[in-house]
Amino acid sequence: MPDFTLTIGGQNVAGAARPIPVIDPSTGQAFTDSPAATVAQLDQAVDAAAQAFATWQHSSHAEHSAALERVAAAIEANAAELADLVVREQGKPLALAQMEVGGAVAWTRAAAALEIPVEVIEQREGKRIELHRKPLGVVGSITPWNWPLMIAVWHIMPALRAGNAVVIKPSPFTPLSTLRLVQIMATVLPAGLVNSVVGEAEVGQAMAEHPGIAKLVFTGSTHTGQDIMRRAAGNLKRLTLELGGNDAAIVLPGTDTAAIAEGLFATAFLNMGQTCAALKRMYVHESQVDAMCEQLAAIAARQVLGGGLEAGVTFGPVQNAPQLARVEALVEDARAQGARIVCGGQRLDRPGYFYAPTIVAGLSNGTRLVDEEQFGPVLPVIAYRTVEEAVALANASSMGLGGSVWGDVQAATALAPRLECGTVWVNGHAEVLPHCPFGGSKMSGVGVEFGLDGLLEYTQPQLLNING
Ligand code: NAD
Repeated sequence: MPDFTLTIGGQNVAGAARPIPVIDPSTGQAFTDSPAATVAQLDQAVDAAAQAFATWQHSSHAEHSAALERVAAAIEANAAELADLVVREQGKPLALAQMEVGGAVAWTRAAAALEIPVEVIEQREGKRIELHRKPLGVVGSITPWNWPLMIAVWHIMPALRAGNAVVIKPSPFTPLSTLRLVQIMATVLPAGLVNSVVGEAEVGQAMAEHPGIAKLVFTGSTHTGQDIMRRAAGNLKRLTLELGGNDAAIVLPGTDTAAIAEGLFATAFLNMGQTCAALKRMYVHESQVDAMCEQLAAIAARQVLGGGLEAGVTFGPVQNAPQLARVEALVEDARAQGARIVCGGQRLDRPGYFYAPTIVAGLSNGTRLVDEEQFGPVLPVIAYRTVEEAVALANASSMGLGGSVWGDVQAATALAPRLECGTVWVNGHAEVLPHCPFGGSKMSGVGVEFGLDGLLEYTQPQLLNING
């Protein structure tokens, strides 16, 4: 295990706050400590970023892109170590962690390839009006524990590409892959351009309030996003908030459920269900609920649960003890409401935070497991009578991240726009792509990430109105 340090001003820096034990979710035991930053160290990181920004903002687009290409190559060169760290701290199977590192490289290259346009709004004799995009300054990034490396990259790379400098705070549950990522980046970037601080909520709150941070990009729970929004008012911080989801899928009546069961399972249990845009509620016609549940349970039964570095494992633990307790509480509540636990419904009798992949039938809206985001390996399958009813049930949520319709492609495509969410998939779910804007409606977020729209969120428009 290498020495983990904060990165401030291009230097490896020891944390001045009490170290945070990092737990391996497959054992429930701490395997190392993470350095942790004080608020004074956050201030130093913001100062270092501001200094780096003074130069970086005037570097050319070509230089920004070339720097990100160097970063992509550096991540690739350290891919094995990063994947191993993601498994150790996050718990997912190695193949999924390798996919996460591959995604980190792909998103970095995609950010490098984006062009920031100058829009000519008016052009005539004696008059030219152009819309330019300027970087904002120091961008703060706060990330969650489910896809720690990928989400760090989603935040950092467009910020740098647009000419900003960054201070990132990973989740204290999964700090290590981000600390390593920033150390690796620091070897190929100007000092101070990317800085890392680790801490609990109070460091995140200090970031949200920090007058030296011009924009904050946050991925995490809706509750925290609301707190950040309140605290960010002091300097009217720009915000991108990617928050919770409670994505519904509607399976159209008469659909061959056996043909789509694998796809449904894969998107509901992606990363053990700990994915913002995973499928979290499934609405199936009442005549097909039993068949659908049996097919999903058969796939659940084939999963091999274990530590992510063990050979043959397809399904890892829940990432942390509070999240496991939450999943257990939601399933117990469902049981108490008379739900049928089709499969799973319990922890595994072994160390670590393992919970069997669980299918629950017999619930509808108005129960906690359906109304709240479970963010774990449990899927409620809900019966509907008419498609109209299914749409109403799907939309009866304060969240609106993603949604999907499964079945005949024409009928599903016609229904899709009626779902109230930022992305609707037809015969798919949870696919996010570097060139497609992604973001939540309602209380699932503010703004988008990815593609040109995502990149422009790291800029301030400046209108140039030229006469003569
Ligand atoms: P969380 O909100 O508890 O924590 C996220 C981060 O915020 C952590 O780094 C944490 O230390 C920090 N934090 C906590 N309180 C804070 C505060 N008051 N001010 C500033 N920072 C604070 O979320 P989590 O449990 O780590 O992640 C799970 C949640 O994230 C789920 O709701 C999930 O849906 C959501 N999520 C959303 C997306 C998306 O793109 N929409 C992606 C992944 C996860």
